[in-house]
Amino acid sequence: MNVEKIELNGFRNFEWETAEFSSHTNVIFGKNAQGKTNLLEAIYLLSCGHSFRTSGDRELVHFDYDSAQLMAQVFSGGRQQNIRMEIRAGKKTVQVNSVRKAVGDLADTLKTVLFCPEDLSLVKEGPQVRRRFLDTAISQSRPAYRDLQKSYREYYIQKKQILKDWRDIPSLLDTLDIYSEGICRLSAKIIRYRASYILRLAQEAGKIHREFAKGEDLALQYQTISTVTDPFASEKQIYYEICDHQEAHRKAELESGKCLTGTHKDDLAIQINGRDAKAFASQGQTRTAALSMKLAEREIVLQENGEYPVLLLDDVLSELDAQRQEFVLNRISEGQTFITCCADDNISRRTGGRVMQVQEGRFL
Ligand code: ATP
Ligand code: MG
Repeated sequence: MNVEKIELNGFRNFEWETAEFSSHTNVIFGKNAQGKTNLLEAIYLLSCGHSFRTSGDRELVHFDYDSAQLMAQVFSGGRQQNIRMEIRAGKKTVQVNSVRKAVGDLADTLKTVLFCPEDLSLVKEGPQVRRRFLDTAISQSRPAYRDLQKSYREYYIQKKQILKDWRDIPSLLDTLDIYSEGICRLSAKIIRYRASYILRLAQEAGKIHREFAKGEDLALQYQTISTVTDPFASEKQIYYEICDHQEAHRKAELESGKCLTGTHKDDLAIQINGRDAKAFASQGQTRTAALSMKLAEREIVLQENGEYPVLLLDDVLSELDAQRQEFVLNRISEGQTFITCCADDNISRRTGGRVMQVQEGRFL
């Protein structure tokens, strides 16, 4: 799939701009603070409905405007499709081929994989970052998983509220078990999705990483609720194992006011050459591992959908040594890619792609 054309009106520092892109590599260059990342953010937003930089929709609208319109003509699923998003008064509305859609369903039309400097946090920061990565990746190809996540969030918020307020309003405890049971039931389903995704991710990322980092071994392992003996077991077995955990932690939940059982605490352990990457990986190893995971995500989208997602590389190529740059450029010879950088550095010549300069929110 690829983005053929984009129109941005009042989005970030783009007042009224249109651009057409190559279906292969697009090198977007320009000085700092001109709009390069803003363009990638627009494409990302049209693929999954949220920004990778902010959850505040007002920030996405140009300072001097009260609404933003984003339009993209994409080639996806063997046909040309049109996506339109309007951001107004803190709300997004979306149309695909002139039909109103839920923001979360945009991924059915356009899928992206983004890699930006902040993605080093995938290796170095807490589990929340890795859960978000997993959830975004699985949701792109599995609409049922999006619904599961939505229900899970609702149950989790309600249960947290009960655990917080039950001392003041004891009658709240009447419904606590309903929410705990719901969380166990949904967790059992989520675990099976995450386990099978991580298995594929580990295989693909391991292969890519070995080539990328000359034989270095990257291992990814799913970590979930301690009583779950096999995350690939039947939903029923997993459910009962989670219920055991819930039962054992019921008192502690009431005392601490925290929700202690559920997939909201899952993690993805990352090891390089048998050692915990969070603790021991160097800057370069961290970058390579994170990029291997993103390139693996891209391969999985291809396997699932028969077409590559659009790859967005923000400011990352210049951080790699020549050999690793070459590896990435070779890998992206198929599929559409957007690469931002401050100077072209011969990237366009090496990829044969299209070069565009961005200056003060305008394409030159
Ligand atoms: P760098 O090379 O430093 O990463 P960049 O070209 O990627 O730069 P962007 O992050 O795209 O830069 O931002 C470009 C400019 O957009 C910044 O100067 C920023 O102030 C401006 N900007 C951000 N949000 C808005 C907005 N809502 N309205 C107008 N301008 C904005
Ligand atoms: Mg930038």
